[in-house]
Amino acid sequence: MDLTPPGNKDTIYDAIIIGAGISGLACARTLQKRGLNFLVLSKDIGGRILRTKDNQANLGAYYVHKGYKNIWPWLKINRRISWQNIYFYKDGKTQSIWKMLNLRLILEGLRLMLILKKFKRKLEANGKRIETQSFNQALSNDEHFKNVFYKPATQFIKENKLENITTRFLNQAIASSIFCDVSSINTGVFLSALLPLIMPTFEYEFKIKDFIAPFEKQIIITEAQKTVKKQDTYEILADAKKFQTKNLILAVPAHTAAALLQKEIKVKGDTNVLVYYLEGELVTNLKKTKGMLIFSSEPIYCALKQQNGNYIIYAKNKIENFSKYFIRYKLIENKYWNPALQIMGNETLAEDRGDGLYMIGDYNAAGLEAAYLTGVYIGNTINYV
Ligand SMILES: Cc1cc2nc3c(=O)[nH]c(=O)nc-3n(C[C@H](O)[C@H](O)[C@H](O)COP(=O)(O)OP(=O)(O)OC[C@H]3O[C@@H](n4cnc5c(N)ncnc54)[C@H](O)[C@@H]3O)c2cc1C
Repeated sequence: MDLTPPGNKDTIYDAIIIGAGISGLACARTLQKRGLNFLVLSKDIGGRILRTKDNQANLGAYYVHKGYKNIWPWLKINRRISWQNIYFYKDGKTQSIWKMLNLRLILEGLRLMLILKKFKRKLEANGKRIETQSFNQALSNDEHFKNVFYKPATQFIKENKLENITTRFLNQAIASSIFCDVSSINTGVFLSALLPLIMPTFEYEFKIKDFIAPFEKQIIITEAQKTVKKQDTYEILADAKKFQTKNLILAVPAHTAAALLQKEIKVKGDTNVLVYYLEGELVTNLKKTKGMLIFSSEPIYCALKQQNGNYIIYAKNKIENFSKYFIRYKLIENKYWNPALQIMGNETLAEDRGDGLYMIGDYNAAGLEAAYLTGVYIGNTINYV
């Protein structure tokens, strides 16, 4: 692969994107279509979309659902994930959802389905808007959307009488997919994380090579250390090389953006997670698991059985020994994600920071589709002469 970028050391680019996760790549593709002279500087290609080295499982973002309309053409869709295959483990016992249901939980479950359907409709309408509007503009144009993204999830749960189903299932399911407690997120994040209950949801592979093909030569694998605002340009220092640009797009996690700009940036708090990929055989009382096994009060959030029989494990802390869960096992790979998701609290961030500076990614709403949309929006917004 020839990665020699166009331009020379004195070139002033129309735009430079730092970070080649889904938001940076979506932005690059949009700039490419518009004919801007741009570069992408990134430590890797894909960021939090990461496959295991054997390409059999997702070590980063795990699932997509049918609501991911914009990224759908770039996905190879694998196995469907069904909530009927979710098992819960507590106090030495494994139970399917069916066995745990009672009348009260069924009624709360039906109420939750109606709420999710309404939220889905709103999200779809806003997905279209967000391509051409900032997240904050989209919020101010829709009362429902605004209400959910500023309301703490616990308040919403109380108002809608969803306490029992939350304690019994949702708390654990949420922690297993977004790695934090319901009490630390807003209603928008809470409902987004529950959409797989009403949307066909799948394991996937993002077709990165096809996606980047039109602008592959404009990607440089490097680590940016510093950005400096000059008169009408930004200078970026990356591994002892300097780059100049009229517009600077930071498509990196918030703490990295803050370090690059040398200033504090207010965004939602980070969750983090340790992901283990291992081959092994579960202990007898866990063996029923076909799909996802969710734990409570354990150092691991969940175990996801893969099509090849291996497991992806999400853990709260470093696990030295898995023999409590596996009769025998062999660790293949692991990865610490910090952040995994930027979702705790109610902050919203303006993507256009003024003065030719932009921030894109999953700062306002979590996940692949949301991060992608911020990249498209800023890619469409940037002015150049
Ligand atoms: C374990 C896990 C499970 C998840 N599950 C799901 C899921 O099931 N569904 C879903 O929709 N989402 C999921 N997510 C969230 C999803 O992965 C993210 O929301 C999305 O990938 C964020 O994309 P991004 O472009 O904003 O950031 P990132 O993917 O983090 O991209 C940032 C890029 O910047 C680069 N970079 C960082 N610092 C520098 C620097 N100094 N110089 C140059 N480059 C730099 C990085 O290498 C990376 O390429 C999950 C995330 C994790 C970690």
